Amino acid sequence: MKEVLGHEEAKRLLAKARPQVVLITGPEGVGRRTLGRWYAYGLNCERGFPPCGSCTSCRLEPHPDLLEIRPEPGRRPVIPVERIVPREGGGENLLEWLEAAPRFSAKVAIIDGAEHLSEAAANAMLKLLEEPPPHAHVVLVAPSPEAVLPTIRSRAFWVPLAPLPEEVLRALSPDPDFLAFAEGAPGRLLWATEHPEEVRELRKLVEGFLYGLEDGRAALERARELLRRAEERLSPWPFFRRAFEKLPADTRTEALEALSILEEAHRAYVGRELLAAWWVHTMRSIYGALRSDSL
Ligand SMILES: [Zn+2]
Repeated sequence: MKEVLGHEEAKRLLAKARPQVVLITGPEGVGRRTLGRWYAYGLNCERGFPPCGSCTSCRLEPHPDLLEIRPEPGRRPVIPVERIVPREGGGENLLEWLEAAPRFSAKVAIIDGAEHLSEAAANAMLKLLEEPPPHAHVVLVAPSPEAVLPTIRSRAFWVPLAPLPEEVLRALSPDPDFLAFAEGAPGRLLWATEHPEEVRELRKLVEGFLYGLEDGRAALERARELLRRAEERLSPWPFFRRAFEKLPADTRTEALEALSILEEAHRAYVGRELLAAWWVHTMRSIYGALRSDSL
């Protein structure tokens, strides 16, 4: 059983309400899955909440009453319907797993990436959430409430997780590059401490891009590379946000707005070539205007 860093209010609410259907939202790495697991251990702990970490149930890892369902990886990840309800040749599915009696008190399924449920899977999930078996709990994990179907959202107890303050994260690592990369998400910070070279290289790539905008061809090449890394979840956007802090206020707003458009388009699977060209063009116009102003 792993401790959850921060998120005290969320823990208090879950322990008090013990909802059967939970929607945990927040940025990647902020602790959504860890909180879902903490909830599962708490529901099954002999001593109740917070999970003690030492009873028979708390010592089990993996826990027999905890199931985690993730999308099948790829450029367009998806949770297919056969993971949710029985289908011929489908294997283990959520419904059958939840209907079986728990070994301890509660069966808890974490749907990690609920925004990737296929349409058929979401409809099957909806039926299940209308009337879950009495000992069953479903924890949906998504980036935001808007990312899941309104009909699913309305059946869930919503637990939003915000980025943690930097002073909380400093307990894990004081490195400024890692803290910038993490943007308040302990999972990202831990990942950075385990992959320091990759994070430093990413920062250098972002700096290289911003300082080398005058050479359009090289900038385009770097933009492609940055987008490629973003697809592998090595998101360079935090380093852009940090670099934009040095811009004058109105230019900074413009740059941050452009970045959020880029992130949104990237999440919506707009092609890399188009995005790279647009990003180079946008950054050149922002930084180019600055340069001519200062002359
Ligand atoms: Zn325990």
